[in-house]
Amino acid sequence: MERIKGRAVTGGIVFGRIVFYHRGEQLIKKNRVSNLELELSRYEYAKRMAMSELDVLYEREIENIGKDHADIFMIHKMLLEDDGFVGRIEEIIRHESCNADYAVFHAANEVASELGHSEDEYIRARTADVKDVSRRLIRHIQNKSESELKFEKNSILCAYDIEPSETVAVDKDCVKAICTCYGSVNSHASILSRSMNIPTVVALGRGLVEELEGCEAVVDGYAGVLYIDPDDETKRRMIEKREEEGRKRELLKRLKGRKNITLDGTEVEVHANISGLFDMKYVLENDAGGIGLFRSEFLYLQNDDFPDEELQFYTYRRALEKMEGKPVIIRTLDIGVDKNPDYLDDIQQDNPAMGLRSIRICFERPDIFRTQLRALYRASVYGRLAILFPMIVDPEEIIAIKGIIQDVCEELDAEGVPYSSNVELGIMIETPAAVMLSDELAREVDFFSVGTNDLEQYTIAVDRQDSRLEKYCRPHHMAVLRMIKMAADSAHRYGKWIGVCGELAGDTELTELLLSMGIDELSVSPSRLLLLRRKIRSISLTDKLGVLVRHGVVRADEAYDLR
Ligand code: PEP
Ligand code: MG
Repeated sequence: MERIKGRAVTGGIVFGRIVFYHRGEQLIKKNRVSNLELELSRYEYAKRMAMSELDVLYEREIENIGKDHADIFMIHKMLLEDDGFVGRIEEIIRHESCNADYAVFHAANEVASELGHSEDEYIRARTADVKDVSRRLIRHIQNKSESELKFEKNSILCAYDIEPSETVAVDKDCVKAICTCYGSVNSHASILSRSMNIPTVVALGRGLVEELEGCEAVVDGYAGVLYIDPDDETKRRMIEKREEEGRKRELLKRLKGRKNITLDGTEVEVHANISGLFDMKYVLENDAGGIGLFRSEFLYLQNDDFPDEELQFYTYRRALEKMEGKPVIIRTLDIGVDKNPDYLDDIQQDNPAMGLRSIRICFERPDIFRTQLRALYRASVYGRLAILFPMIVDPEEIIAIKGIIQDVCEELDAEGVPYSSNVELGIMIETPAAVMLSDELAREVDFFSVGTNDLEQYTIAVDRQDSRLEKYCRPHHMAVLRMIKMAADSAHRYGKWIGVCGELAGDTELTELLLSMGIDELSVSPSRLLLLRRKIRSISLTDKLGVLVRHGVVRADEAYDLR
């Protein structure tokens, strides 16, 4: 037996046979052409064909996989209109008097190699898109038809890499899992396979070779492992794990429609964190009570430019409609540090985590902020919207935000555009400053949502990006826990509610403590909803003070006075 470890993209245990998909190498010879105008028109014709094919794919896949994912075909179209890319193709044809397919092949390799050297994983992942679109173009130049991907039943599709258009072409009835040597968790192909719910492992490395064709294998999509010729013990373990996961799913079904209520009868709001519409399927499947955190910045990261008002309006409206009146908390743009769209001017900052990021960028670029607020308010009539502002450190910032909101609403009034007057406004509590001023902040907003990921890094001074610091990153640090308690007390003092949407919300070791502090809402990734809901139903909150003392959040001598 051989065990190869990669990166888990989509969970699931799959038994099957390896089918090595080796994309037909397009060996393209360079030929000298005498009629350059004819060659350029051959290329132009192929480009038009590729564009209309992408339009068809886009329309078809909107139905199948949703607009967010189908957008990849629009990105491919944009590539075909990109001056750098197409300009280079034409330049090669003219300067080297060569055939169009060779020029496309060559230009695509150049662009892909540039992107491949980027330090940004997201940009590196775009090399697959360049190659995908160039293959389409070459196919049209060569007048060839697209061959479908055909597989036997129970195939484990293995490949060096897989492209988005190949992923959507996969026949789910036959292909039960996807494994690739390369690839990143954030590539569009990974995003697509996740939304199609095909167990997927990427970055398995060079051990995944074509010679494995036909081998029996098991994919553990949860752990990101591929077992080749699994022994009996591994098969037994995998069957057990599959059954265990199946049992958890069954449990989830039983929890569906039931309240998240503790043994003593306290009802808790359990919501989901999402990054885009593609996550909605899992939110609905897991029966979340609402969206507690919609990280809107992913909409910005998936585009080549700031998403316009229409695209944002459509996205927020769909999220609200799909939640059918349940609360949807959309966080305004929180870019910076690791979340940097390449179209945003690159400002050199020595310490980006404490630099121009998040709400500060919105203040610097009111045009971007206003566009998002307009889209949010326009969408607000389609459900129960709340807006969450990140990285707030001062009540003055909220006053400034409210001023901008008022302008936006007046503008909408003047245009006769309807919006809801019940949009709740909240802030992330993710800096020590916000905790220390939580009384003043609570007066200005409707709710708090604690971002424990950032609160932790700013409180215990540990860079959350640096994996070398993992051992110093102690999420249960007493300073962080006491800060959450302090923010909860402030919120309640002013009759406001408070949630936790950072990773700590899904840490079931802390559920009892967080609820004893009075946290009203917990928002976690859809995959964690089940365990959290089960945990909530197993605890009692009859002795909240006792729980706080046991965890050290309240000192015993303080408790004496509080009883
Ligand atoms: C947080 O900081 O805890 C949070 C939820 O936001 P993000 O992880 O997106 O910074
Ligand atoms: Mg944060």
